[in-house]
Amino acid sequence: MKKTLLVILTMLSIILCACTQTHEESINCSLNNNLLSVHFIDVAQGDSTLLISPDNKTMLIDAGDNFHGQKVVDYLNRLNIKKIDILIGTHPDSDHIGGLDCVINNFDIGCFYMPNKSHNTNTFKDVLLASKNKHLKINAAKSGIHFSLGKFINCSILSPMKIYNENNLCSLVVKSVYNSKSFLFTGDAEYENEQDMIKSNFNIKSSILKVGHHGSSSSTSEAFLLKVKPDIAVISCKLNNKYNHPSEKTLTLLKKYNIPLYRTDKQGDIVLFCDGYKVFSYKKPLTKYNKW
Ligand SMILES: [Zn+2]
Repeated sequence: MKKTLLVILTMLSIILCACTQTHEESINCSLNNNLLSVHFIDVAQGDSTLLISPDNKTMLIDAGDNFHGQKVVDYLNRLNIKKIDILIGTHPDSDHIGGLDCVINNFDIGCFYMPNKSHNTNTFKDVLLASKNKHLKINAAKSGIHFSLGKFINCSILSPMKIYNENNLCSLVVKSVYNSKSFLFTGDAEYENEQDMIKSNFNIKSSILKVGHHGSSSSTSEAFLLKVKPDIAVISCKLNNKYNHPSEKTLTLLKKYNIPLYRTDKQGDIVLFCDGYKVFSYKKPLTKYNKW
């Protein structure tokens, strides 16, 4: 009888605790639980994705534009992060690398990867200067590079596979694998890169797809989507942005294959947790594939 009462009381306290926890507290709770967490930080029209491995190693892919660098820094500070073990600037466009100088100035950085592509903008020069001031080497990355994030997460760079001139086509595409689950971060990779990856020997099938180029119609071809075969898609963009992202074409395609969709423009920061075998979030995917 006593035992039954104890079980009931324990269950009640768990339910009460879950009900009173804020979204942020739930996230903090899960961060201490040996999970991989993947944070799609809402940086409006741009990308910034943070991975925290089960053994607390960190990887940041992009840091939004110049105006959102501080938001990314604040986000990392809230999680008490002191060091970015792997920093990636996918390509030189300002909506991806604009906030990187701010991140470099505020945190210890382990290894820094960028594609071998320069750009004649102050934003790009700011990243070079911040790196130089910190004696941080920029490693030129391309497809075929492998590294690990802590003991559990294996990462590969799948693209670019050729030398391209256009910034988006130089986007580093990163696949991160944790046991049976995988995440594909595509930067602003375009149709040409998708064709390269489809034709390659890489296993591009991934559980989670960060949809290329903010959902633009120039990325996410049907052939690519069928090959990646994601269980979940995530789009990072600003609501009512001037580029008209995400495109109707991409949304229609995601709807056609019933792929649950998260969007930073509609849902703010999105955090996915993974124990290596399943993926979950405290937010539900969108129920509609409407543009706005
Ligand atoms: Zn972009």
